[in-house]
Amino acid sequence: MGKKTAKKSVKRARKWVYFFGAEKADGKATMKNLLGGKGANLAEMVSLGIPVPPGFTITTEVCTEFYQNRQREPQRLKAQLSKSIAKTEKIMGKKFGDSMDPLLLSVRSGARASMPGMMETVLNVGLTTKTIPGLIKKTDNPRFVYDAYRRLMMMYSDVVMEKAAGIEPKTEHDGIRHKLEAEIELVKKKKRYKNDTDLTADDLKKLCGTFKVIIKKTLGKPFPDDHDKQLWGGISAVFSSWMGKRAIAYRKIEKLPDDWGTAVNVQAMVFGNTGEDSATGVAFTRNPATGENAFFGEWLTNAQGEDVVAGIRTAYPLNIHTKTRDTKHLPSLEQMWPKLYKQLDRIQNKLERHYKDMQDIEFTIEGKRLWMLQTRVGKRNGQSAIRMAVEMAKSGLINRQTAIMRVNPNQLDELLHPSVDPAEEKKATELAKGLPAGPGGALGRVVLTADDAEAWAKKGETVILVRNETSPEDVHGMHAAEAILTSKGGMTSHAALVARGWGKCCIVGCSALHIDLKKKVININGKKIKQGDYITLNGSKGRVYEGKLKLTPADPEHNKWYKELMTWADQFRTLNVRTNAESPSDAKAALKFGAEGIGLCRTEHMFFEADRITAVRQMILSDNLAGREKAISKLLPMQKGDFKGIFKAMAGLPVTIRLLDPPLHEFLPHTDKDLRALAKSMRVPFDKLKARNEALHEFNPMLGHRGCRLGVTYPELYAMQARAIMEAACELKKKGVKVYPEIMIPLVSHVNELKDMREVVLDVAREVQKKYKIKVSFTVGTMIELPRACITADEIAEYADFYSFGTNDLTQTTYGLSRDDSGRFLPYYVEHGLLKEDPFVSIDQEGVGELMKMAVKKGRSVKGDMKMGICGEHGGEPKSVVFCHDIGLDYVSCSPFRVPIARFAAAQAALR
Ligand code: ADP
Ligand code: MG
Ligand code: MG
Repeated sequence: MGKKTAKKSVKRARKWVYFFGAEKADGKATMKNLLGGKGANLAEMVSLGIPVPPGFTITTEVCTEFYQNRQREPQRLKAQLSKSIAKTEKIMGKKFGDSMDPLLLSVRSGARASMPGMMETVLNVGLTTKTIPGLIKKTDNPRFVYDAYRRLMMMYSDVVMEKAAGIEPKTEHDGIRHKLEAEIELVKKKKRYKNDTDLTADDLKKLCGTFKVIIKKTLGKPFPDDHDKQLWGGISAVFSSWMGKRAIAYRKIEKLPDDWGTAVNVQAMVFGNTGEDSATGVAFTRNPATGENAFFGEWLTNAQGEDVVAGIRTAYPLNIHTKTRDTKHLPSLEQMWPKLYKQLDRIQNKLERHYKDMQDIEFTIEGKRLWMLQTRVGKRNGQSAIRMAVEMAKSGLINRQTAIMRVNPNQLDELLHPSVDPAEEKKATELAKGLPAGPGGALGRVVLTADDAEAWAKKGETVILVRNETSPEDVHGMHAAEAILTSKGGMTSHAALVARGWGKCCIVGCSALHIDLKKKVININGKKIKQGDYITLNGSKGRVYEGKLKLTPADPEHNKWYKELMTWADQFRTLNVRTNAESPSDAKAALKFGAEGIGLCRTEHMFFEADRITAVRQMILSDNLAGREKAISKLLPMQKGDFKGIFKAMAGLPVTIRLLDPPLHEFLPHTDKDLRALAKSMRVPFDKLKARNEALHEFNPMLGHRGCRLGVTYPELYAMQARAIMEAACELKKKGVKVYPEIMIPLVSHVNELKDMREVVLDVAREVQKKYKIKVSFTVGTMIELPRACITADEIAEYADFYSFGTNDLTQTTYGLSRDDSGRFLPYYVEHGLLKEDPFVSIDQEGVGELMKMAVKKGRSVKGDMKMGICGEHGGEPKSVVFCHDIGLDYVSCSPFRVPIARFAAAQAALR
């Protein structure tokens, strides 16, 4: 019997199509994987009783099927689709393809996560020579009908016939959309019109005729004059666009899997372009740029679809709150149609309370009737993410744990970003004004295309991408750019949205810019800025300046929401966060960021300073112990001074000092001139010194005479460093300063190395404490940064008070590659998916991570409570921090600026 039912369920047709409309929906918000974000939320809104035009969602499974089935839709889809169209027709009281009163449809793509680069929407599907006369008769509005028709042709030819068909125009100008837009501009110019809305029914009718000719000529195929062909063309195009170049590129940047697939939403059209009692708009339940709890948006009368976002006309402010100095004269919905505004306001409130997060919504008003077309969690920059999370938690909408999980640790980085120095800004000459779409300051060289932005950034240039407006095709350049500046578009434009998501400085709608792509210059009020020239942006105010202005470092300490969120984070995290610092000023900066100790104080940097390098070189180049000790004795007081400064700054917090690590030749002179001077100061013959210098040459310094191997062969060196540390500690302690040194031996591979070095350090420590007649608590531990150390971590544990994972070297030696030479191949590996991520950025958990786990387990099998941490930049990378939490480390250590990010990631690790 079991067999029978199994067979039956296989036979039963899978549900490919989910209907929504008239307050009932097959789907719901939690079904994002199946219905995509847009479809799932449309269904949810319908169930909430919010007015949404009826329609249906074709599932992501159909997309998967489509690719398994040589890019054809599954057989049974047609039948299910017809049923849903019939339901839609019934609710709307119109029929798709009907010559008297035709129903028009929109075809909208919708992946799980909103994704630029996917097929955009095709609106007004179903307009054909058969249905147009009927619709004109029915609406008595030929202008509207031909406006809708030309929009259909533009969108359809662009996204279905060109992009989804994989046709790559040679330049932007050869693309079909550009050609059709140019045609509109031509008519407007001829007739001296200012806006698209000035075009008459007759103009539009003629344009539609011209469009057909241009489409046929450019794409080699006629625009389909059949409603069903249009619909299926649209559906297939959505599926094809999933594997389009741009969509794939975006998924790569955002690290989204290719096998999710996309859903397709087909929905009855409602029209914002039937005349002056119709409109369309975009809004956010809270201000996405500042985080302020205030309804925020833009709208346009007699407009359709993307008009607001595309910046074809200057969008109107939605309400009084949204008005700025530049837009205060424009009509707001709140003032013009207060009743409709109140209805919209009620809906936005309901949506935010329902989803418990800021929503980004789309609406259309047709003949003074309001329809909702989309809701989704709104993108926001770091600053507003933090403010919203804190304010929502305080108002009780969410709890503190949720508030913490809402903010991406990397978003904190934005607050830690620089801003334009106000004093300099006052004096600077302003080039132009625009809308402040992404806060913070940025300076860089102007580039005018996305490809240039990417190419220049690759060469190490800091660039600002300047465009009229951006589109999904620009995403790679936007990613590479430091900041984005556009001449068109509003606060909800593509550029603003994308920049916000990435926390980039961004200014949009800067209408004074006139970009000449051929000559590669921008004309601004009579001034010329060439590609490559420096400009500075103040993204918080929307101001553009010529040249380089001073940027002042960020000041998170004055941001009350940030401070509050961080105190919550500290309450939840269990990992300690330390910093890597080698100077008192670094140490102090890190303390401000919340560091709880120093996890790595490298001593070699101290050796490079001008007054010391000579002594260091003398030490290295002398061929006998006496000579070395003489040089070393010069270094001792200097090192002692360094350590005193750091201990004082850290006031009793643990300070892990790593004894000398790099190969000696790094300190040596590179030119004969320098060598000659050194020979003179050392009173040795030049030739002798030169020979010794050459003898120190190594083939693979990274795997050569470095780390504790230096200490093993020159114990006097490590003894001097230990002495400097202990004397500094004793002297401070005598003065009542609390100190807690942790002395760390680097690059141990065999327990005997550590055993010997530990003896050297302990001998010195005993002697120094005796001399000063005082006891200092200190520990001696080791870095775990070689595979052999991980494997024998139990043996090593006998002689170590603590472990600190050096994941840079551990990654190099586990992979058997040198990071400095990896630039030639590692990027290729990441780009082609051989590696998901650069293992020097985020810990390679399956390889390096397994070794770490082994070392933790073996180490603690000998010393159950041994303190273990990680130093090196992985310690400030959120995913690696979570990993360190999971394997039971006690602390992570990272550069001062990353400390808040690590603290926050540690809280998220504890809360998951
Ligand atoms: P995107 O994912 O790029 O936002 P959408 O599918 O939301 O694409 O559609 C683009 C534009 O078309 C939006 O402004 C949306 O409101 C509008 N639109 C989509 N479907 C309809 C419809 N059925 N009636 C009216 N406007 C629509
Ligand atoms: Mg949308
Ligand atoms: Mg190392």
